[in-house]
Amino acid sequence: MVQTPQNGPLLDVNRDNRPHREEFIEALTEVVDSGRFLFGPEVSALEEEIAKYSQADHAIGCASGSDALLLALMALGIGPGDEVIVPSFTFFASVSCVTRLGATPIFADIRPDTFNLDTDHLEQLITDRTRAIIPVHLFGQCAEIDRICQIAASRDIPVIEDAAQAIGAAYHSRPAGSWGLIGCFSFYPTKNLGGMGDGGMMTSGDAEMADRLRLFAGHGMRPRYYHQVVGINSRLDTFQAAVLRVKMRHLDDAVQRRSAIAGRYMEWMEDQQLVGEDQITLPYIDPNAFHVWNQFSIRVGGGQRDSMRAHLAEQGVGSEIYYPVPMHQQECFAFLGVDGSDLPETERAAAEILNLPIFPGLTQEEQLRVVECVASFYQKSARLAA
Ligand SMILES: *Cc1c(COP(=O)(O)O)cnc(C)c1O
Repeated sequence: MVQTPQNGPLLDVNRDNRPHREEFIEALTEVVDSGRFLFGPEVSALEEEIAKYSQADHAIGCASGSDALLLALMALGIGPGDEVIVPSFTFFASVSCVTRLGATPIFADIRPDTFNLDTDHLEQLITDRTRAIIPVHLFGQCAEIDRICQIAASRDIPVIEDAAQAIGAAYHSRPAGSWGLIGCFSFYPTKNLGGMGDGGMMTSGDAEMADRLRLFAGHGMRPRYYHQVVGINSRLDTFQAAVLRVKMRHLDDAVQRRSAIAGRYMEWMEDQQLVGEDQITLPYIDPNAFHVWNQFSIRVGGGQRDSMRAHLAEQGVGSEIYYPVPMHQQECFAFLGVDGSDLPETERAAAEILNLPIFPGLTQEEQLRVVECVASFYQKSARLAA
């Protein structure tokens, strides 16, 4: 990693993992000694833990969050001629699963406050070819999943939740991954439940669907060497499961820390009068949502996002833009011919959004530097004390 002066690193995975080093070594040693590197009791135990945590009856491990989404669509039999509604303001994997199967993504705009799916726009986009809706619970906050499920149910369309950034999040106290027919989780190292490599999980309350997901994740093979469907090979390996079970024990604590960090950012930025149309817009918390703060995402107004980011970088404060190019503007999706005229909030968000450091081990002092740096961009000297 490049060593720049670190006043507020965007992320420090080591810092978060270090306190649990002994637990990891112990769990990994058990896997080494067991000689079982795929499946085995660690994987099924994690599946049970995630199912319970997400209040879904079933959970099926797979190789990544991207595979979870792909497998969900495969299990639904989605293919050419089918339409899948998905926000354009998301990570690539929410959309590539659709085009990979030859189906057509239909891009929905987002709400300006939460950056999540705009349900009014969603309704306008439904046609008799709509075969699935993929709401994304972006940055750790659920989309209006109750309303989305109502709209979908009234037309008999399955909902696949992209909960990659939202394990433990809830809407009306009901967890992400328990609302739709299928919930998709990622254990990519930067996610709230991050592994030491790739990993993913699918949840479902429907026993038949859960069985199909497992079938597709295992070469469609059942019994051995008899292939019912053309599945893929997508397994959560036992080392990841062992690591993730350790992390599960500390997940709620990690979420509380993230939440405390978010609360301090909001309080300090308000206090320093950094909030306003030409300055910063703070994240909006939907009163029905339990936010797990995978990201702390602000808007920088007045066309100043990129200069703000450069200013922070100069001072050694990390930041990132999630996401600079919406999916409808990606080169690989140009063939879809979407001009973006009905995605104004998506395009505005891509131009204004800035993600600030947030991870459980971020110290108050570092946070202070971040806020001071934001303040100094507006020529304000922050008078802050942790
Ligand atoms: C991370 C992520 C994915 C993909 O997860 P991987 O495990 O990296 O494949 C999908 N959707 C969203 C919204 C994500 O943030």
